[in-house]
Amino acid sequence: MNCLFCKIAEGKMEAETLYEDEDVIAFRDIHPQAPHHVLIIPRQHFSSLNSFEDGDGALLGKLLLTARRIARDLGVAEDGYRVNINTNDHGGQTVYHLHVHLLAGRQFSWPPG
Ligand code: 5GP
Ligand code: ZN
Repeated sequence: MNCLFCKIAEGKMEAETLYEDEDVIAFRDIHPQAPHHVLIIPRQHFSSLNSFEDGDGALLGKLLLTARRIARDLGVAEDGYRVNINTNDHGGQTVYHLHVHLLAGRQFSWPPG
């Protein structure tokens, strides 16, 4: 499978990694949309949120807990941040290996564009 984020997870492609363990890896987005823009992915390939089963809650929870941990480590937890999962075409997904966006370091508006 020719998946960009699988390659990053396997260390076959470079990325600025902030955190990794046996389940997840977090690295800086190559086109940051905020002073801090981090992508958190499972090492296992899932195309999108739609690919998860009911039994995958622990892994999904870990992705969010990793976002929380990185926000804390970056010192932005108190000011606030945004966590986002784009899903399929209408969601704006462009890379089909599930990733959680963590954006921080500026004020965001709502609703998103
Ligand atoms: P999506 O639109 O699928 O939710 O987000 C994909 C994200 O992956 C985009 O923010 C894009 O900038 C980022 N991205 C695409 N290619 C690479 C890459 O090779 N390295 C890194 N670090 N980020 C990438
Ligand atoms: Zn993949």
